[in-house]
Amino acid sequence: MMPSPHDVLHQIFGFSAFRGQQQPIIERVCAGGDVLAIMPTGAGKSLCYQVPALVRPGFALVISPLIALMEDQVRALRANGVRAATLNSQSQDSGATLDALRDGQLDLLYVAPERAAAEGFRALIGRIEVALVAIDEAHCVSQWGHDFRPEYRRLKSLCDALPGVPRVALTATADIETRADICAQLGIDHMVVAGFDRPNIRYQVSAKTDARRQLVSFVQAQGGQSGILYTPTRADTERVRDWLKDAGLNARAYHAGMDPTDRRANQAAFVRAEDMVMVATIAFGMGIDKPDVRFVGHLGLPKSIESYYQETGRAGRDGDPAVAQLVWGADDIQRLRGFIDQSDGSEEHKVRERARLQALVGFLETAECRRQPLLRYFGEPAPPPCGNCDNCLSPPAVDDMTEAAQKFLSAVVRTGQRFGAGHVIDVLAGKSNDRSSRFGHESLSVWGIGKSLSTARWRDVVRHLETIDALHRDPEHRGLALGPSARALLRGETRLSMRRETADPLKPSRTTPARKRDAETEALTDADQQLFEKLRSLRRELAVEAGLPPYVVFHDSTLRAMASRRPHSLDAMAGISGVGAGKLAAWGPAFLAAIVGE
Ligand code: ADP
Ligand code: ZN
Repeated sequence: MMPSPHDVLHQIFGFSAFRGQQQPIIERVCAGGDVLAIMPTGAGKSLCYQVPALVRPGFALVISPLIALMEDQVRALRANGVRAATLNSQSQDSGATLDALRDGQLDLLYVAPERAAAEGFRALIGRIEVALVAIDEAHCVSQWGHDFRPEYRRLKSLCDALPGVPRVALTATADIETRADICAQLGIDHMVVAGFDRPNIRYQVSAKTDARRQLVSFVQAQGGQSGILYTPTRADTERVRDWLKDAGLNARAYHAGMDPTDRRANQAAFVRAEDMVMVATIAFGMGIDKPDVRFVGHLGLPKSIESYYQETGRAGRDGDPAVAQLVWGADDIQRLRGFIDQSDGSEEHKVRERARLQALVGFLETAECRRQPLLRYFGEPAPPPCGNCDNCLSPPAVDDMTEAAQKFLSAVVRTGQRFGAGHVIDVLAGKSNDRSSRFGHESLSVWGIGKSLSTARWRDVVRHLETIDALHRDPEHRGLALGPSARALLRGETRLSMRRETADPLKPSRTTPARKRDAETEALTDADQQLFEKLRSLRRELAVEAGLPPYVVFHDSTLRAMASRRPHSLDAMAGISGVGAGKLAAWGPAFLAAIVGE
């Protein structure tokens, strides 16, 4: 008799309930139906095929494009006592794996798409009972997605050769057109889209004033936990890493130009660490499913809202509170604009890219709940204010800055549209410099009309004007000129409202730190907190012993539940979320001893 999905969830994985859309997806696959599951990172895609793999007879064939990801998954499954293996260019024991497969000793086999397409492999699995075919990172099958892989195109015929075997495709990123294309390319007729909200992530955005101080104090405020900082260039990764190291923080760098051995070593160290900051370009992150990443920072801008969502989505996959912090300036917008202008794409492509950039800017400058522009972008109805973003937590006051904008634009015109922001601000402030006297700016009507605003506030105005395309910056000389939306502002046809200056949005917030705020997090008393720390160090020892990252042993949330509920028997421990039969047998006694010994 087949076990029920719920039994598998409970007994093998130790979880008490399905999350979000997991249940309908899993039930469908267990019943033999196909499905394309669109779920945001951290929603729990893996269980959508792992549970059916254990419910249905035969082994599940899982296609995954990333070796590191396959190995993580296999490691985590084995810790739960599940018979899983991987076949890829780097796997060592492929003979033994194939034997186990033939003997029906495997529940899940992870393979790279090239392998899945190979004739010999297809002949082999044609003779074995297959429970299902799971296609991870399914957007790779579509040319419209951002990561097309030609080998993925051969997966449909692989599936077609296995009649009656359900196919489940999974992805976190796919716009509406790409979704339909994935279904067509894989022959799947049913799609389930999970909500895109990630309620445990706190979104924060700040204007760049002093990047070094801002980033260092942000990381320090995170209480020594693991996180990723994305920087625009390879050189930045090393520079920012040094800033953090100078501040005594455990930081490493990662970018595609590094020596591959160092790069792999840094990645492996990060996955195992509990307190490391990885300073990286966007080359880092794909294929890493470390669930206890507590923050993701951006210095400068991601390419689009999709990229931002994907990158920040790497925080808090375990469901515990996490922070996404972005620090940006107008120069970042200019850079992205420059990339688009200079790209060799068609004019149509450029128009689309500019619209994407504009959507990102709208998100950055908004004074409303951050989740509203984000979720609207993904086609979801705007949620009520979330209470877990910078704008909700300390609502920004908004000022009408139309008059200041007009003054600034006039000053740009009067000075000949060729000076940088610094000089124009000096003119408005009536501050003499060698150029103001040389070019006769001191006798202009705009001389000294902007004394009521601080230089910092004028910088905000300039950033805003650049952002809404009222000002353009000459990429070489950095001189400012009017952009297309300047006219309407000068004529008073549009108004400019801006968030009021906030002194330093990055200083640790008045509210309690993110890790303690979330309602789902069990609040710990001081004594429980002590026990939690003790369990964490026990976990560290056991993880080293087993050659596993600590989170594979137990997640923080599981340790927290142990610390507050203090189970006094293995039976009681089995009732804690995240404690399945396999982990209970392997590590339950050691944790029980630590708890009972209190
Ligand atoms: P995704 O691939 O969608 O980013 P994962 O499959 O890696 O997400 O799952 C994210 C985390 O959530 C994992 O650590 C997993 O153990 C946990 N998880 C998934 N489903 C559940 C559930 N029903 N209950 C508790 N934890 C879950
Ligand atoms: Zn909010």
